Amino acid sequence: MKRLLKKALAAACMITIVTGLVSCSVPGSTEPVTKSGAYFDTLISITVYDRRYSDEVDHCFSMADRFDRLFSMNKKSSDIWRINHAKGQPVNVSDDTAKIIRDGLKYSAISDGAFDITIGRLTSVWEKAREKKEIPSDDLVKEALSTVDYRNVLIDGNKVTLKNPDAMIDLGGIAKGYIADRMKSYLKKHHVPSALINLGGNVLVIGDKPDGSHYRIGIQEPFASEGTTVTEVAVSDKSVVTSGIYERYFKKNGKIYHHIIDTGTGYPEENGIKSVTVISKKSVDGDALSTVLFVLGSDKGIEKAEKMDGIECAYILSDGSFKMTSGMKKYGFSGGK
Ligand code: ADP
Ligand code: MG
Repeated sequence: MKRLLKKALAAACMITIVTGLVSCSVPGSTEPVTKSGAYFDTLISITVYDRRYSDEVDHCFSMADRFDRLFSMNKKSSDIWRINHAKGQPVNVSDDTAKIIRDGLKYSAISDGAFDITIGRLTSVWEKAREKKEIPSDDLVKEALSTVDYRNVLIDGNKVTLKNPDAMIDLGGIAKGYIADRMKSYLKKHHVPSALINLGGNVLVIGDKPDGSHYRIGIQEPFASEGTTVTEVAVSDKSVVTSGIYERYFKKNGKIYHHIIDTGTGYPEENGIKSVTVISKKSVDGDALSTVLFVLGSDKGIEKAEKMDGIECAYILSDGSFKMTSGMKKYGFSGGK
């Protein structure tokens, strides 16, 4: 089992114990009730403030399961797996898959391919490299890189064609945000007034906390032990997503090989960024943009984010300094060298 998943499961067990205690609370109380589980190779948890919403939370976990079975690149017979193995033929997919692919293509175009959902062959090469802790051969990297081009994805209604039969779609840079949004819509439809959805650090909140205060979301200090924060942001009804080089990586000859890939070179980005945090209304935007703004670099990224409505971002750079958009301070993101 992967180390990350083991850690996630250990944390899930701890939370289950806490949940067990909380379930003794009186109905209608505003004590937090948190449920957790392992999905998409990470720990996800949902917190509500009334145990009468327990069924709705359970339903969100079944949604996670369904989306995992639709969007996974590795699960046989998922929509994405079928597209990736269709040898260039059209494939009929679910409404959700068609929608997330459209979102992914939008961000691929906005970033001029710096973010590219057809990065699957390349991310597979680097995932195997992480497992073996070995740098892949340059030939392997370049061959995988030659298949990356989002313009090969054609979509017509629910019919998706990946024109290059050697290419593969990987929605890893956008899926958690999309799924978080869908869970939020479901919970809101069922009149849940306040909740925190945390999909492996991809956080989306509904409203304020029941006492009327904003949710305070800690920003992870890169490479420090999990839960050590450098700052925090206070948000109401917003998504807070961080992409960082410390999440999935291996070290070789003193160099870090992480999971955010430069579509120009085929190698992990080396642009002096340790992490970028995005605050947005929709989590699909925050998730895609956290990867997009990472690969664009801090100067271009901030320039781009300043022009986008309702988007704020903050970078933590390798010297420990912070760089952020003008509106980020109002959420409390502060400090840095
Ligand atoms: P996570 O929260 O899982 O760490 P991120 O939102 O930080 O995910 O995005 C990283 C993931 O995005 C990678 O695991 C990979 O699946 C995908 N990815 C990496 N580089 C790119 C890129 N240049 N364009 C699109 N997707 C990418
Ligand atoms: Mg992302």
